[in-house]
Amino acid sequence: MYDIGEKPGVGRYCCTSCGWSVNLDDGSDRLPPCGSCGKGQQTKYKSC
Ligand SMILES: [Zn+2]
Repeated sequence: MYDIGEKPGVGRYCCTSCGWSVNLDDGSDRLPPCGSCGKGQQTKYKSC
């Protein structure tokens, strides 16, 4: 699992709380706050 702000690499990552997904298309991209849970949440991501 990955935290907001981590740089897990190119791929698709899903919020473990709500399933919202984000594509990172560059190895230097950081995981953003979840677009559904909001910025204040301690969201974790997993690859999906
Ligand atoms: Zn979420």
